Amino acid sequence: MTAGVKRQSEQPRWHELALGTAVIHSGSARALKTGDWRSSHPEWRYVAEKTGCIQCALCSIYCPEGCIVIRRLSETGYDQATLALRPASGITAESLVPDADLNYCKGCGICARECPTRCIEMVPEEI
Ligand code: SF4
Ligand code: SF4
Repeated sequence: MTAGVKRQSEQPRWHELALGTAVIHSGSARALKTGDWRSSHPEWRYVAEKTGCIQCALCSIYCPEGCIVIRRLSETGYDQATLALRPASGITAESLVPDADLNYCKGCGICARECPTRCIEMVPEEI
């Protein structure tokens, strides 16, 4: 046997191991800001010439970080002038639309990939 490797009979049993990866407090994932190492982030084209957001929420469902929240468009900082130019879209300032919490968005691009209308654009971070 290789030096330093314990025989199976010498190794601790499962109930003798120190507590390691247990989640002790609920909500502790909020302390891990996965957005720190992002190289790009999603930007939403809620109102577009041909393919705007149809509010299906698939981006929110597929996001592996669970960081896409649903807000009123008026709360997202969206350009209201653009909204006024596209009344046929049906989206208003009061519409509920997806928006990412960038503290936790890791820039994977899954939301943009899964959006059926391709109205999410991944934009590189400025360094
Ligand atoms: S880029 Fe990835 S982590 Fe960020 S909002 Fe989209 S799916 Fe979520
Ligand atoms: S997947 Fe696309 S169309 Fe559906 S809610 Fe998200 S941004 Fe809007």
